[in-house]
Amino acid sequence: MHRARKLEPLPDVNGYFGQYGGQYVPEPLINILNEITTAYLYYKDNHEFQQELRDLQRRYVGRPSPVYYCRNLSKKLGGAQIYLKREDLNHTGAHKINHCLGEAILAKRMGKKKIIAETGAGQHGVALATAAALVGLECDIYMGEVDMEKEHPNVVRMKILGTNVVPVKIGLKTLKEAVDAAFEGYVQDPVNQFYAIGSVVGPHPFPMMVRDFQKIVGEEAKRQFREMTGRLPGCLVACVGGGSNAIGLFTAFLDDIAVRMYGVEPSGVGFKTGDHAATLTLGSPGIIHGFKCYVLQDKQGRPLPVYSIASGLDYPGVGPQHSHLKDIKRVEYETISDAEAIDAFFELSRTEGIIPALESAHAVAYAMKLAPKMESYETILVNLSGRGDKDIDYVAAKYGHKYGVN
Ligand SMILES: *Cc1c(COP(=O)(O)O)cnc(C)c1O
Repeated sequence: MHRARKLEPLPDVNGYFGQYGGQYVPEPLINILNEITTAYLYYKDNHEFQQELRDLQRRYVGRPSPVYYCRNLSKKLGGAQIYLKREDLNHTGAHKINHCLGEAILAKRMGKKKIIAETGAGQHGVALATAAALVGLECDIYMGEVDMEKEHPNVVRMKILGTNVVPVKIGLKTLKEAVDAAFEGYVQDPVNQFYAIGSVVGPHPFPMMVRDFQKIVGEEAKRQFREMTGRLPGCLVACVGGGSNAIGLFTAFLDDIAVRMYGVEPSGVGFKTGDHAATLTLGSPGIIHGFKCYVLQDKQGRPLPVYSIASGLDYPGVGPQHSHLKDIKRVEYETISDAEAIDAFFELSRTEGIIPALESAHAVAYAMKLAPKMESYETILVNLSGRGDKDIDYVAAKYGHKYGVN
């Protein structure tokens, strides 16, 4: 095994990963962020806190999630052997519960009464509503009215879980307005409320904290993969929206220089149309939502509208650590289109009996491109970040005719 170069532990004390990250927020918020940082760093090394988290990960989430060898798909593609880290098998069906639980327990220990967040498609909202119900905190989820109509089942789930869904009626009534409204709601009472960010984005300490709550994915996978094969995977592949599931898989392998890593962004319907969310591929350094990262922005530095068939991937910024990993060339960032993701969605369903989330289907699609170019003794480990139940009606209505569904 190659262990030539040890990467510096990041972020630095100011929350920077290279030139990215930091805290670009109004002065009064700095104190609050520092309070969260101090509390987090204390509980990170607190035996009782870690014990509570580990116990819930095991008995509530169902960890460790298995690593599964895709015999049929690998054989059909003819090349490298493909493995999946099955985060789709977690309680609530995706990796998001990993950081939502961590944030909820931290908020509770900090004496907060309520956790709040915005949600777009409702996945973060449902995971947080679940964690809030479990640890016994009030929960406000801000959601654009247009999204509430589109994602009705998730609205119902959150309400069943006892969460207060706050309809946002301003502007386009989607995610961006929900972010603004949640932020406004938060600054009204930051003493009693905790803003639970849904990915490795936002001001320090969130990119660090959410990464730490997610890195169990790679730690488990490394051990499981070694048990199964006696070695480390040749490549890792994960989809990148904000970047939490990808950094969760990558972190345990960053010092293993022989392990190649690929983050997969959505090229949507194509770069020429502007309907994509390929932030690391086409963006440039800028500031968004309180931190510095690659941003898809216009000449005035305003975020551009973004699009992906997978709503969990359409964000015009990206985690600061991914921005840094791109610059130092430790991770390669590639793209997959809507059409390729849909193809992978059906391929995995029909060869392995696993219906992936459309977000995760981007990672599967890239592995399907990579495998035939590799030797049969080589391996690819894909983070299957979530299950596809949430996507079946949409896929059947829009693409079903092409795949014999309707
Ligand atoms: C939200 C989501 C993503 C994208 O978020 P990251 O922070 O980039 O991981 C990916 N997959 C699934 C299933 C999701 O729900």
